[in-house]
Amino acid sequence: MLKHDILKKSDKEVQAAVLGEEKRQEEGVEMIASENYVSQAVLEALGTVLTNKYSEGYPGRRYYGGQVFTDAVEMLAINRAKKLFGAEHVNVQPHAGAPANLAAYAAILNPGDTVLGMDLSHGGHLTHGHPLTLPAKIYRFVGYKTEADGTIDYKKLEALAKKEKPKLVLAGFSSYTRQLDYAKIAAIAKKVGAYAMMDMAHIAGLVAGKALPNPVPYFDIVTTTTHKTLRGPRGGMILCREALAKAIDRAVFPGLQGGPLMNTIAAKAVAFGEALRPEFKQYAKQILKNAKTLEKEMRKRGAHVMFGGTENHMIVVDVVKSYGIAGKEAEQYLDAVGITINKNVIPDDPRGPMDPSGVRIGVPALTTRGMKAPEVKVIAGCIDEALRSAGNRKVLKDIEKSVRKLCKQFPVYR
Ligand SMILES: *Cc1c(COP(=O)(O)O)cnc(C)c1O
Repeated sequence: MLKHDILKKSDKEVQAAVLGEEKRQEEGVEMIASENYVSQAVLEALGTVLTNKYSEGYPGRRYYGGQVFTDAVEMLAINRAKKLFGAEHVNVQPHAGAPANLAAYAAILNPGDTVLGMDLSHGGHLTHGHPLTLPAKIYRFVGYKTEADGTIDYKKLEALAKKEKPKLVLAGFSSYTRQLDYAKIAAIAKKVGAYAMMDMAHIAGLVAGKALPNPVPYFDIVTTTTHKTLRGPRGGMILCREALAKAIDRAVFPGLQGGPLMNTIAAKAVAFGEALRPEFKQYAKQILKNAKTLEKEMRKRGAHVMFGGTENHMIVVDVVKSYGIAGKEAEQYLDAVGITINKNVIPDDPRGPMDPSGVRIGVPALTTRGMKAPEVKVIAGCIDEALRSAGNRKVLKDIEKSVRKLCKQFPVYR
């Protein structure tokens, strides 16, 4: 457990919420594919006086004085990110993934331009064209889909690109489990005179750990969050070719944001430093192994795993087909046993996005706490039993006990 002595004295109510959340994170299995546990060094960097400082602008060209240390810390984050991903230019200021994407769009597109991105029910993210988002009000998004076997038909994608004439071809996803052919996507963009952008938010840690191919050499722009598999603080980042550096930097500040969150940027620098160490390669490799084990164990028990299986850190399961329950019920049953996942759409979901047919299950967080194949097997058994429980309280209570027992052996923050 962490100490919050000063907080305890000054604000018991907030401290109680913090302690409650700490306990929840320690005692349950976190399987939301976009979540992770940061190191104590990252937590410490977040809680520093860097939060006091206004640093509008970029290192060496700020609007206010007193920037010796903020410049130093931002340069550390930039240079480490460049090294991690082999990028020509990096902007570490986006407050999160959504603003990073909005800034990237703003840097290269005009209102009304067409963007070709992955259909949301096939794995694309909200920021890739959900009708309620600002980008969808400014630009015209057209979705491409996956095939029944989970792959992408690049001939079809090329035909769609020729028909729709996008200014941007977008790759990236938040609930797709196969690898993309970066070279093919970039070539299609080039053929139709569009920019190519990859949103690697979900897999950035797997790329950093060299467990998956690096998209950076193929794309004009690569955006990411820093808090998913990359295991840093909540935040965003944009990597791009030198030719787009100015446009990207201007789009982030002053285009979209004011002062950067310097404590968060310090924490990003710490996380990138961690990702540069050899242990992180082991971590990334173990994530892939754990996801594969989870897939196999779930299949063995009769689960219908989408997209023909997984090549990354997560699986999507059609729980209607597998267990005769909706994603919402599956989420509730698993919550009751201390396993946190999220309901998720499956391609062209017959039930619609509000009450979808699937769940998304990810392993980055449990891998951080040291769990490997034996533990993943136990967890798969717990998931399967809970989904078959029909909500029986006694059954769920028993499963919860095994989950708690397992988690006790793998403390997050000692
Ligand atoms: C999570 C995610 C985002 C958004 O990140 P936030 O930090 O929540 O704004 C954007 N794109 C993809 C592909 C994501 O998975």
